[in-house]
Amino acid sequence: MKVTVAEYAGFCFGVERAIKIVSDAAKVNENVTIYGPLIHNPQVVKELADSGVTVKKKLTDITPEMTVVVRTHGITINELEALKKRTTKVIDATCPFVLKAQTSAQNLSDEGFFVAVVGEAEHPEIQGIVSYIRGEYTVVAAPEDSVKLPWRSKYGLVAQTTQSEYVYQDVINILRGKCEDLNVAYTICSATHKRQEAALQLAGSADVMIVIGGRNSANTTRLYRLCKSVCERTYHIEAEEELNDGMFAGARHVGISAGASTPNKLVYDVRARILERAKKDE
Ligand code: SF4
Repeated sequence: MKVTVAEYAGFCFGVERAIKIVSDAAKVNENVTIYGPLIHNPQVVKELADSGVTVKKKLTDITPEMTVVVRTHGITINELEALKKRTTKVIDATCPFVLKAQTSAQNLSDEGFFVAVVGEAEHPEIQGIVSYIRGEYTVVAAPEDSVKLPWRSKYGLVAQTTQSEYVYQDVINILRGKCEDLNVAYTICSATHKRQEAALQLAGSADVMIVIGGRNSANTTRLYRLCKSVCERTYHIEAEEELNDGMFAGARHVGISAGASTPNKLVYDVRARILERAKKDE
């Protein structure tokens, strides 16, 4: 059985950067805390907890002696202001791609566009992005939602950084017919784009695809859905313990992909476990 890891899989630039920011902060400060989980990966969050870094989910839990790190997918403008009132030690680890999405939304709104944000309304990244919009806006989760939008003279489009390129393109095409002036901000991050392309390509030639990442990770879930659209036997797992023999019955080629918040070690542990199983069957 052949086992292939997608050309781009696992930790992205934004996550590596954020982990380094937290680790560096913990070396020189006591009482380092992250406001919300830094990234959507339970193993990484646990490792940071083991090194003494705490996670606080409520503003009221933040006290002045804390050094607070803002997570990769950002927070709302009001939360950021409130955090700064509770402690002077705020370090922003928001990924630059997320900052770009926030700025694009704000600029489009200031230029008079009705802003349509393509993503999941309840996702913290989207809540952060829309908080920068000063005018009217809507959040659309799928192309079907954009079909229902009314005609307007000016639409501005912003995507969640981990949005599928294909979904975004469909929404662009639909909104072209619903306004005079469409201004599209290209806010899908390059790490997401590369992971999606590589996963799709691999899924097209694999009998079984394993997608590794937190179940609460939006980008991992999108990778899973994309792979599933071309490879029926696609499984989303968080760790190697979830693998079982039934997943690989009769498979000759297994592909592995992983979300941007999945540590590379986890990817290679899963690969090793699959190869061990394959050897047993020989
Ligand atoms: S997936 Fe993209 S936007 Fe999200 S942290 Fe990584 S580089 Fe940044």
